[in-house]
Amino acid sequence: MKREETKQIKIGNVTLGGQNKVLIQSMCTTKTSNVIEVIKQINRAALLGADLMRVSILDMDDAEAIKEIMSNISIPLIADIHFDYKLAIKCIENGIRKIRINPGNIGNEENIKMLVDKCKQYKVPIRIGVNSGSFDKDIHNYEEKYTGEKLFLSAKKHVEILEKFGFYDIVISLKGSSVKETIEANKLASEYFPYPLHLGVTEAGVKDISLIRSTAALAPLLLEGIGDTIRISISADVDDEIIAAKRLLNDLGLYENYPTLISCPTCGRTQVDLTPLANKISNYLETVKKPIKVAVMGCVVNGPGESKNADIGVAGGKNEFILFKKGEIIKKVKEEEIFDLLVQEIENF
Ligand code: SF4
Repeated sequence: MKREETKQIKIGNVTLGGQNKVLIQSMCTTKTSNVIEVIKQINRAALLGADLMRVSILDMDDAEAIKEIMSNISIPLIADIHFDYKLAIKCIENGIRKIRINPGNIGNEENIKMLVDKCKQYKVPIRIGVNSGSFDKDIHNYEEKYTGEKLFLSAKKHVEILEKFGFYDIVISLKGSSVKETIEANKLASEYFPYPLHLGVTEAGVKDISLIRSTAALAPLLLEGIGDTIRISISADVDDEIIAAKRLLNDLGLYENYPTLISCPTCGRTQVDLTPLANKISNYLETVKKPIKVAVMGCVVNGPGESKNADIGVAGGKNEFILFKKGEIIKKVKEEEIFDLLVQEIENF
């Protein structure tokens, strides 16, 4: 897929923007000074497929903790700081790879210059992150509904401050808590800025709601080639965010070496216990790093057709399954044996 050409930004050992792959990121859910837990979360996220992780910096204890965290992880870490440039400077000195801070919120020009100089010295990029809960008062006063344009204008104001100080290693995120405004803001930003965009919906909700809301907002943008990194924000575990991001990118053709599962919704024709099998296969496929397409179908009416589009497929009969490979029938299998056989076939693929 042709993606928008954005400026390439180095974040530690990864490059964001340009035609580089869309990076997946998530955020630690424990206080950053709780070093052991944070290291555990980051390393687990990296194993699951996170390219970048972010931590909140609330106080000097958090900023001090960055040093130890950095020496125990392998993916770049981003520090999320609000208002206090001194915390940002401490994180940079301690080895953080990127900071998220809005320069318009950190006081006088002297403070901004000090921060920008430190970022230049340590080659640390800045993400400007505007979301619908943190508008610049001059742009939106919350008396009426916010718009995507207002999100864009808030970011523009912060970007211009950095540019005034000759700083261009910028990543931008514009997150509404609603779909239309998020899309509108990011389209405006993509047209106007040369900088890479981090996509997400802010406060997207619990899992079922966020999966729909985030997909509705991010998919149209990604299909137009907009977006260089994503976070699927969910009121749940970090694991869920990373798995959701991988699945979304995979379905849009933006992720490699990841399996695809097709399963039917079942109907009156189904004579096997399909849903538990589909769930078990779905969980198992999370451990597989191959671009394999697997179909789990309830009956032979649509089964063979779908299986032709899949590498391996099963279609239910009466208490049994038929195994297909590329649409060709291989054999009949008893219902209780199908999971193990399917796993074996996927392993051998
Ligand atoms: Fe029904 Fe067969 Fe379609 Fe599944 S594949 S929904 S069982 S017709």
